[in-house]
Amino acid sequence: MVKQVKDEMTDTMWGQVRAQLEKSVGQNNYRNWIEPLEFADLEGGVATFLVPTNFMGTWVQRNFGEQILRHMISAGAKVSRLEFVVPASAPQARAATTGETPPPANGNGRPARTGGGELPGAPLDKRFTFDNFVVGKPNELAHAAARRVAEGGPVTFNPLFLYGGVGLGKTHLMHAIAHEMQERNPDLRVVYLSAEQFMYRFVQALREKQMMDFKHLFRSVDVLMVDDVQFIAGKDSTQEEFFHTFNALVDQNKQIIISADRAPGEIKDLEERIKSRLQCGLVVDLHPTDYELRLGVLQTKVAAYREQYPDLSIADGVLEFLAHRITTNVRVLEGALMRLFAFASLVGGEITLERAQECLTDVLRASDRKVTVEEIQRKVAEHYGVRFSDMIGPKRLRSIARPRQVAMMLSKELTTRSYPDIGRRFGGRDHSTVMHAVKRVEELIKSDQQIAEDVELLRRLLEH
Ligand code: ADP
Ligand code: MG
Repeated sequence: MVKQVKDEMTDTMWGQVRAQLEKSVGQNNYRNWIEPLEFADLEGGVATFLVPTNFMGTWVQRNFGEQILRHMISAGAKVSRLEFVVPASAPQARAATTGETPPPANGNGRPARTGGGELPGAPLDKRFTFDNFVVGKPNELAHAAARRVAEGGPVTFNPLFLYGGVGLGKTHLMHAIAHEMQERNPDLRVVYLSAEQFMYRFVQALREKQMMDFKHLFRSVDVLMVDDVQFIAGKDSTQEEFFHTFNALVDQNKQIIISADRAPGEIKDLEERIKSRLQCGLVVDLHPTDYELRLGVLQTKVAAYREQYPDLSIADGVLEFLAHRITTNVRVLEGALMRLFAFASLVGGEITLERAQECLTDVLRASDRKVTVEEIQRKVAEHYGVRFSDMIGPKRLRSIARPRQVAMMLSKELTTRSYPDIGRRFGGRDHSTVMHAVKRVEELIKSDQQIAEDVELLRRLLEH
């Protein structure tokens, strides 16, 4: 009896949450990914859903997990984790349990018909638009290039190759291009998919003897975007097929957009001819975030969140603190914010600096800044106006030796490197040289005001 009442409550809650999700993920995503979820139960903070395939569960978790969690919490559910379960009788569990190739994402979670002429892409995240992309120094070039390509018109850079570390906005920019192109010309056949999905499609076509359809399908698109292309390195037949698809499209003057976690030349086990093809267009990188960009991202996301939840209150200085301390990437930054939002909606009241620190202890610890010896050498060289190469070179002039000693002392203080290790990094010097330098600078700090100030300033620069 009690259980039944509880079930009805949770069902209503899920009904509400679905309505919210429909608004926040968009019609298409909603129909493809949210509607098929069957809410099973909520116990011990874990909400369980039945899904038709493992692939779908993973996809929903990865792409919509945070949003689902957030909406559930706002609807009053005591939930901290989602689980997706394929019922034992589901016919496709075969592919998932053998573990090899999950069915490709074609927007409905079912294996795609390669012959049907439907577009072979993955769904686009409707939040990943140019409007939602915060531009700063580290990504301005990539952003400008993406904008240019999105304008359509004659194909000038082909391919556009975006690369950079994880969580810096590659996927976001690619989706933004797709949205924009689709908006400008709804008839355009724009296909976005990950290299992994490209491979699944290819393997599936081989298995089902539908290579002709596969080739035809990929050669008939107007714009092809392949995300995380480093994935196909070492996968020879997939590379081969990719290469042919790529060439066929370039020959037809169709735009291609590729992303990877590093520059084309640096992807190991990628065929030379593919590397050089990839380098033919425009290659731009997304740099690691800087403080201004991080703060900009945080402010933008808070403003967007406030539109839905006007009660959110964050104390002055909290965002600045986070931008300072979480220096990894935008994804981690967003994750931290989501946690704060969930926390705020649970406990109510203002998010103070103290609460933020408490709620994010682990994230903050993981992002504790680790300075490298090389960074220290660069900063010190810059400060004293000497060349970086002199830091590790043999010159013994006082004007160079002194900065070098300061850099050695800071290396000992700010990194976990040993004396011999530091010596090696300063052009193969002996550990006793480093020990001497550390002692000398420590003495000087006491007697020489100028040195004391220099060291203090450098220390502060490096600790941020
Ligand atoms: P990548 O594909 O490079 O690993 P993503 O594009 O998936 O990174 O970005 C990770 C998350 O950070 C996404 O939610 C994305 O919206 C967000 N993000 C990254 N860069 C920016 C930016 N400049 N402005 C706003 N959001 C960003
Ligand atoms: Mg990505």
